Amino acid sequence: MKIIEHFIDGKKFIGDSKRLSKIFNPATGEQIASVKLASVSDVNTAVDNAQSAFESWSNTTPLQRARVMFKFKELIEKNSDQLTKLIVSEHGKVYEDAKGSLIRGLEVVEYACGIPQVLKGEFTENVGTNVDSWSVRQPLGVCAGITPFNFPAMVPMWMFPMAIACGNTFVLKPSEKDPSCSMMLAELLMESGLPKGVFNIVNGDKEAVDGLINNKKVVAMSFVGSTPIAKYIYENCAKNEKRVQALGGAKNHCVVMPDCDLDQAVNGLMGAAYGSAGERCMAQSVAVAVGGIGDKLVKSLSKKVEALKVGPGMDSKSEMGPLITQEHLEKVKKYVDIGEKEGAKLIVDGRNLKLQGYESGFYMGGCLFDHVKKDMQIYKEEIFGPVLSVIRAKNFEEALKLVDDHEFGNGASIFTRDGDTGRTFSNKAKIGMIGINIPIPVPMAFHSFGGWKRSLFGDQHMHGPEGVRFYTKLKTTTSRWPTGLRSDPEFTMPTMK
Ligand code: NAD
Repeated sequence: MKIIEHFIDGKKFIGDSKRLSKIFNPATGEQIASVKLASVSDVNTAVDNAQSAFESWSNTTPLQRARVMFKFKELIEKNSDQLTKLIVSEHGKVYEDAKGSLIRGLEVVEYACGIPQVLKGEFTENVGTNVDSWSVRQPLGVCAGITPFNFPAMVPMWMFPMAIACGNTFVLKPSEKDPSCSMMLAELLMESGLPKGVFNIVNGDKEAVDGLINNKKVVAMSFVGSTPIAKYIYENCAKNEKRVQALGGAKNHCVVMPDCDLDQAVNGLMGAAYGSAGERCMAQSVAVAVGGIGDKLVKSLSKKVEALKVGPGMDSKSEMGPLITQEHLEKVKKYVDIGEKEGAKLIVDGRNLKLQGYESGFYMGGCLFDHVKKDMQIYKEEIFGPVLSVIRAKNFEEALKLVDDHEFGNGASIFTRDGDTGRTFSNKAKIGMIGINIPIPVPMAFHSFGGWKRSLFGDQHMHGPEGVRFYTKLKTTTSRWPTGLRSDPEFTMPTMK
């Protein structure tokens, strides 16, 4: 059985831990590999290597770093089929969706290629008489990233290309459920000319995460995952005096207004609720049917949910693949049981789907609930599976209140033909990322990604301008020339003269 190790100092690293975790192909249910679970000493080795590489990497010019990123971009493109297949084999999502997620990661690399322009800084000549002032952003040191299972390429690439391009070194702890894509990206970075030790991977679980949190040489932590762990990371990194951004879970609402183009809304909802088997932090898991549109919406959705083509990710006919693990599949099905008990109306039940030839795969069909109420557990909690809840609201104000009252604030969309309603929604909703007639409003790489409320702990969002701010610290210098200029001591606050 293949054993996936760590990646430290430019090569695979076996480490001293004997602990292993199983990796499955969700399409067949077979174990395909084991991954090493790092000890604290393995983590410390990775961090020490990153620390040794920092001095020289942080002194490279932004243009040299950009050239590595350009080469990396080229290699990702050249190897995109293999990377995509790795995502499919360990995560299970369908090939085209996996490829799309790789491209969204690649776009962050493309943004990082522009780092010489992005890091130019600001200069004011003659801020006072014969005095100049400038501000630059300098790298932080060793940064770490901890990532979830649902985007094994894209989410790590939200982090490390930005961190590295800004002059930092990096230790990644990918999800132990699907680490192979990150391992291949590490090899490609080496081929791109990145010096050894600048990018390292420790595979592992809580022990590795705690090792990173407690290591004083790690100065900044980026996390993406579920809300309880995000909160844990945020609190403990802050306690250890690290800069931290910790993105958590979500329950994204899609408000369907009575004046919308219903076909557009239904098609948008289908992709956003059931794409990647609902294992997306930007999945639409609640449709808010406003006014009298509920019955028409549910009728149209139910036909499409029943017709969903579920199958292995490598089958080009599949629209939705399996869930990541048997355990996760059971957890999602349990939510459907709960929803029924709570009194929501189960319109489409995908719990009993069986696929011929793939009986051991982690499949279920799409599920659709109607008449969900705001005090139900299936509404309050993130299910992270192919389950869409329809909740009804009398009017726009009631729909907006639902969105705002929910504990999560990652994304939300509205389908409407009325510009005023769309603008008011964008203006008022307490949500980080808004879509107007857009079902999955994931910002492009040159904007920044992040939610509000309990979907993000910390201040800075990922990639784009906020990514640069997160991975650099600001320094402002004020300077007076010529050196020959002399004045008597002044004991008052300097003001412009
Ligand atoms: P998770 O929180 O279980 O795991 C995320 C990471 O934390 C993994 O690397 C895991 O090894 C580590 N981890 C798990 N338990 C830990 C513990 N007790 N102590 C320390 N570290 C621990 O999340 P997941 O199941 O891999 O991913 C799904 C979740 O991620 C969903 O909640 C989803 O909404 C969220 N997510 C959020 C975003 C976003 O941008 N907000 C993006 C993708 C996924």
